[in-house]
Amino acid sequence: MKINDSERIANLEDNYNRPIFSLRISITNRCNINCLYCHHDGMMPSDDEMTPDEIYQILKIAKSIGIKKIRFSGGEPLIRKDIVEIIKKTALLDFKDISITTNGILLEKYAEELFKAGLNRINISFDTLDPETYKTITSKNYLNEAKKGILKAVEVGFDPVKINMVVMKGINDTEVMDMFEFSKNHGIILQLIELIKSDNCNDNSFTDKHHFDLDTLEEDLGKIATKVKTRQFMQDRKKYFVDNGEIEIVRPMDNTKFCENCTRLRITPEGKIKPCLLRNDNLVDIITHIRNGYSEDKIKNLFLKGINNREPYYVNNE
Ligand code: SAM
Repeated sequence: MKINDSERIANLEDNYNRPIFSLRISITNRCNINCLYCHHDGMMPSDDEMTPDEIYQILKIAKSIGIKKIRFSGGEPLIRKDIVEIIKKTALLDFKDISITTNGILLEKYAEELFKAGLNRINISFDTLDPETYKTITSKNYLNEAKKGILKAVEVGFDPVKINMVVMKGINDTEVMDMFEFSKNHGIILQLIELIKSDNCNDNSFTDKHHFDLDTLEEDLGKIATKVKTRQFMQDRKKYFVDNGEIEIVRPMDNTKFCENCTRLRITPEGKIKPCLLRNDNLVDIITHIRNGYSEDKIKNLFLKGINNREPYYVNNE
């Protein structure tokens, strides 16, 4: 059943009764590493980036229609020299939560400033503690920089800090417990992410060869956990409490539950609303209209159009 725009703003949800709380905004496609598996957050290649003011205007409208949480991503968001300014401006809008996903390489330099600017949480993509494996995955030798960045984030007071580890068979699957020890020892939550197919590899051979099914691992965690929590509005992710540490399991692939509980809209670096992670045929341009001086009301309607375009995976795959 379609819902009208005023109903939607009163209770921000899409045509499939999924509430929308959060916005993930990709602020660049540029990155300082080149991960073997990277899906680039489902973004199309483009050199276009928005200015801090344009980002602020988009977020202001997002706030006005009921978005509560903002996550910055990329590319590598810390590669932008104006990242602290972007966070400072975002903090003026008084969201419930502002977070960032980063590879951590530039975090030692920025963690303190970002914390003071009003950033609340950090997720760091970090798949291995082994320098050779790090080089294999990222094609760069920045393991120490990333590690120092992680420790700096903890030191300046971010809480929680999470490590995102994409688990890959034959590459880093034997390191899960070492990564857990490292995380636990620094009060960090470890998120184990299932590898999904990416455009970086023009066939499925990388995913087929290295896909690691997290089921068995999850079963084992279930046996030793003192507590298990299910996070409904986070795609039903399970969080396991083990030996005074925490591990979350993230399974983003073609997953009915993932879609069913998806509460997130996305913005591409070139300023388009991206309603669904795995699609690029339902984007809604907003930046052109902001640059052309459209009123806030008109931009609000474009946001609502983006929300209208959300269509869960299971609709076409039943
Ligand atoms: N540069 C930032 C970083 O490294 O966190 C943000 C961008 S990165 C694309 C965002 C997240 O997507 C990372 O946590 C990464 O591990 C995850 N990711 C990328 N490609 C993936 C894939 N093929 N399967 C599963 N997760 C993936």
